[in-house]
Amino acid sequence: MPVEAYVPPSLGPSTLTTTESARQRLRQCAQSGLLRIAVDKRSGGFGDGFAALVDAHAALGRDTRDPGLVLAINAHLWGAVYPLTTFGNDEQRARWLPGLLDGTRIGGHAITEPGAGSDVQAMTTTANRDGDGFRLNGHKRYITNTPIADVMIVYARLDASPGLAGFVVEPGDAGVTFAAEPVVAGCRTATMGDVILDDVHLDASRLLGSAGAGGTMIQSALERERAYIFAGILGVMQWQLAHVVAFARERSVGKGRLADLQAIAHRMADMKLRLDTVELWVARCAALSDAGQRLTLASAQTKLLASEAFLQSSLDAVQIMGARGLESGMSTLVEDAMAGRLFSGSSEIQKNIIGAVMGIGLDTRKERG
Ligand SMILES: Cc1cc2nc3c(=O)[nH]c(=O)nc-3n(C[C@H](O)[C@H](O)[C@H](O)COP(=O)(O)OP(=O)(O)OC[C@H]3O[C@@H](n4cnc5c(N)ncnc54)[C@H](O)[C@@H]3O)c2cc1C
Repeated sequence: MPVEAYVPPSLGPSTLTTTESARQRLRQCAQSGLLRIAVDKRSGGFGDGFAALVDAHAALGRDTRDPGLVLAINAHLWGAVYPLTTFGNDEQRARWLPGLLDGTRIGGHAITEPGAGSDVQAMTTTANRDGDGFRLNGHKRYITNTPIADVMIVYARLDASPGLAGFVVEPGDAGVTFAAEPVVAGCRTATMGDVILDDVHLDASRLLGSAGAGGTMIQSALERERAYIFAGILGVMQWQLAHVVAFARERSVGKGRLADLQAIAHRMADMKLRLDTVELWVARCAALSDAGQRLTLASAQTKLLASEAFLQSSLDAVQIMGARGLESGMSTLVEDAMAGRLFSGSSEIQKNIIGAVMGIGLDTRKERG
């Protein structure tokens, strides 16, 4: 199937931030099959690989130039679909996966709290055993897809132990509030909000994976999120460079074209190098995933390099376009790229992970990743 087939033809760019448009755009992607790529057949996916996923997500990024949509799709895929396919039992998979794959249900994952961002171990949301189930209390913040989510994988500290556990939470559960704030600058077309758990009783069927495995589940989901979110961003960067080159060729300065000024050409050469390097790193992650290998190091390297590259290229694009860069949607990509240095673990945390893999810079604290 050609990769363009996964991108709904009517989707196009969006600046809308209503929850209805966000839900609608995700559903359109689902209807084109985008959410079934690299999902095994037993779970209802196509049973194809990550190279196909990268191609399709890059095509989506090129066509929509919408990092918010890319973020929303990846929160859905790695936050909810992946843990259910990987850690869910048969009953859980049958209950939640069909809707998540056909887009009638939207998902995400809730890790961050007002007092616990990079430092996952500072998490204070609790899950205490209560009869045959669990009682959850806590507050999650900056959670992508919250206002439109039907399923949220929520992580909590289990029975006051150091161990974490993941739970499937629905907005209709008694004591649960999926609040529509706050929305940050950057990736505004993705919806965001707080998940508040006030004495929420969940029966045992909502525990995902084994009790205490939550930390591993978070790491495993984030490894994939931080690699493949940049497949979509790669497409946005491809559009960005093509747009800027076309602009610079058309724009006259003095007796020539903007594109012929060496200072401008050098900026575009740097953008091209960054773009091609991001493509190589994302492809490396796909090759590792397709070979069934761990992504810990490669996804941290990819996220660090790609998020910084996207920010620098977005700044360059605005500068090359002059005031038109601020007038057009190009400058909103700068904010999107700033968000990209924070979500799924900040640039500093990626450096900590890379250092830890090398056995250096080891901190006594456990951070996101
Ligand atoms: C657009 C967007 C979408 C998001 N979606 C989700 C979501 O769906 N689910 C979810 O759970 N969370 C989500 N988040 C939250 C995101 O994961 C956190 O913002 C991120 O982990 C950083 O946490 P923090 O913002 O609390 O910053 P802090 O952890 O307070 O860090 C502040 C600064 O200190 C630096 N820092 C912190 N610790 C260290 C350290 N040990 N070494 C070096 N530097 C350090 C950080 O890099 C950062 O620059 C989202 C965030 C954004 C911006």
